[in-house]
Amino acid sequence: MSDPAARPLTPPAKVAVIGLGNMGRPMAACLAKAGYDVRGYDSAPAMRERFAQETGRTAADSLEAAVDGAKAVVTILPNGKVVAAVVAAMTPHLSPGAIIVEMSSSEPMATRRLGEAMAEKGFGFVDAPVSGGVRRAIDGSLAIMAGGDAATLDIVEPLLKAMGRAIFRTGALGSGHAVKALNNYVSGAGLVAALEAVSVGKAFGLDPDMLVDVLNASTGKNNSTEVKLKQFVLSEAYNSGFFIGLMAKDIRTAQHLAEELGVATPLGGRCADLWDEAARTLGDLADHTEINRFLTQDTA
Ligand code: NAD
Repeated sequence: MSDPAARPLTPPAKVAVIGLGNMGRPMAACLAKAGYDVRGYDSAPAMRERFAQETGRTAADSLEAAVDGAKAVVTILPNGKVVAAVVAAMTPHLSPGAIIVEMSSSEPMATRRLGEAMAEKGFGFVDAPVSGGVRRAIDGSLAIMAGGDAATLDIVEPLLKAMGRAIFRTGALGSGHAVKALNNYVSGAGLVAALEAVSVGKAFGLDPDMLVDVLNASTGKNNSTEVKLKQFVLSEAYNSGFFIGLMAKDIRTAQHLAEELGVATPLGGRCADLWDEAARTLGDLADHTEINRFLTQDTA
């Protein structure tokens, strides 16, 4: 737990961002724009290079250099296992009392254990996963689900506000990750339902654009019908910027949580299996909207 007397972390405080992928780069850019002294790091040199091109800042060439002197360290990495490995590697180099802001989508129970272990070593830890995709990461309007103790969240709130528009305090450590996984379960199930409806409609001879317009004016409307179907599927652009392997991971996380808690989720189990199979067939780095190609057997 952090020092309750500590002040909110305002610019130009030094903040490290670990993970400069589709989300990490624009999120780091928002922090820099807000005036934070941002030090980005990614294990992939190509991502460090893209960060430098997009922000005009040099990325750190090691994890150690990135976290050196940072008051807060944002992690935005593929999953909780990678986060745990990165946190273990950076711990000896963290400044006393530094706060880790874990913004990846990770397993809630593992996050709780990791955060508690870091608290015993004197570091702050909150989970603050995001929703809204690359577009909202770019314009700093992400939804952020923040779990952790109130004093630590008060300290990092200005940082979160630089990246997000809606900051929800979801409860204790790990609760942000629980909410995020449940959100993506609902989102992933909604996308599959909408894609199946379009396939049936097309087979019946309906104009898919018309069908999407009607859904969006009716009770079938969901986030996928509004911002994914025409934009990424009917256009065949398939470039939303969210990998299918990450979506499958999130839906499986929600299912694991249900199983750990003994809550029956018959649709959740089938949905997790479907997304896992689609990610295996198309490859983890396919865009998540390409699940349409899996569902329609267009996987050549
Ligand atoms: P991404 O794969 O584009 O980026 C992850 C980055 O982490 C990569 O650049 C990779 O090189 C880097 N990385 C991997 N291992 C590392 C290590 N040991 N040290 C340093 N860097 C390492 O993924 P993304 O789309 O940016 O997603 C990041 C997280 O945000 C995921 O947990 C994802 O589920 C979540 N998320 C993504 C979106 C989206 O629309 N893309 C939306 C909400 C949440």
